[in-house]
This record gives sequence, C-alpha cells and structure tokens, in this order.
Amino acid sequence: SLLDELTGLPNRRSFRYFIDRMFEGAAVQGTSFSVLMIDLDFFKEYNDTYGHGIGDEALAAVARGIESAVEHTADIAARWGGEEFIYAAFGKGIPEIRAVAETIQSRVTGLAIPHDRGTAAKIVTVSIGSSTVTLRDRGDVSRCIDQADKAMYQAKAGGRSQIVLFVEQV
Ligand code: GH3
Ligand code: MG
Ligand code: MG
Repeated sequence: SLLDELTGLPNRRSFRYFIDRMFEGAAVQGTSFSVLMIDLDFFKEYNDTYGHGIGDEALAAVARGIESAVEHTADIAARWGGEEFIYAAFGKGIPEIRAVAETIQSRVTGLAIPHDRGTAAKIVTVSIGSSTVTLRDRGDVSRCIDQADKAMYQAKAGGRSQIVLFVEQV
C-alpha cells in the first residue's frame, strides 16, 4: 500500500517511489532539492489531554492542511511516521521553499485546533526544519533529509512553532 490509512497522505514507501521516479525521468542532476520536516508540537500532551481518537482527527486535519500546500508538479508531502510529515520539492530554491513552509505553518494554525498544553497560542502548531541542496546523486537526498531533521530539532529547541533553515557549518 502506498497511502497512509489515517491521513490519506502518501506513506514513506510512496515517498521513496516518488524520489526514484524523479531520478529516472527528469534530468534532476544539478538542480536544487529541498526538504521540509514537519513535526507536531507537544502532541503527546495533546493525546494525554484529549484522547487518542481526537488525536487521530487532529493528525488527519493537519495532514490535509499540509497537502493543500502541494502543487503536485515536482513536489510531494508524505506521512513520515507518527506525528511527523515530510515535504520534498525538486527545483525550488531557498526563498520558494521558505514560502511553502510558511504556507504550511499558516494552514495548520488556521485550523485553530485547541491545544491547552501546546505552545503559547494554545492551538496545534508545527515545528519545521528546512534544507536545500544541489543534487548530484541519490545520496544528496538522504543528506538533505538529515539536515532538515537537524533543523527541525533546532526549531524544537528554539521554542517550537517555528521554521528553521539548515545552514551548513563552515
Ligand atoms: P515535541 O514538541 O518535542 O515534538 O513533543 P511531542 O510530544 O510531539 O513528541 P513525542 O515524540 O514525545 O511524542 C509524539 C506523540 O505523537 C506520542 C504519540 O502517541 C503521538 N502519535 C504518534 N502517532 C500517532 C497517531 O497515529 N495518532 C495519535 N493520536 N497520536 C500519535
Ligand atoms: Mg512532536
Ligand atoms: Mg516526532
């Protein structure tokens, strides 16, 4: 199966197939590749407060919010696992991927799902890590995902409900 049952989004396997297809079809070498790692904030507390069933509903609603930011041209959003989602795009530069991240963030906060033990706004929010690389080979995809993941943890450490762009240490 390629779709996640709860959210209807592509699953991790489906995400891999998308990347494979892009490498087979188009000339992606030398173009930019961007990843957003998107993780719900204080979601354990959400389940503890409202129950797992309501938690499932919130996850599905957030997934639809994320999905609404996808253009379905050379990009994809998938459920990465648990309360974590991934968005990836071929051919988008840093300003464009930042705009997508902001759109996702505002679609999620726009849902205004109450979360009393969440971030300051007391609604369901997401932390987003972003990375953009120039593609040479398939290994750059993994590197980009790792970097976006690191940036996402920086967003958590920085107070959550924010977007952090990975910057290569020099
Ligand atoms: P942080 O802000 O640091 O991300 O905190 P967190 O509580 O979101 O992170 P943590 O990893 O501690 O907990 C993740 C929670 O997500 C715990 C788990 O029960 C919940 N979760 C994962 N998948 C599902 C799901 O399919 N449905 C529901 N209802 N909850 C889920
Ligand atoms: Mg979380
Ligand atoms: Mg998580």
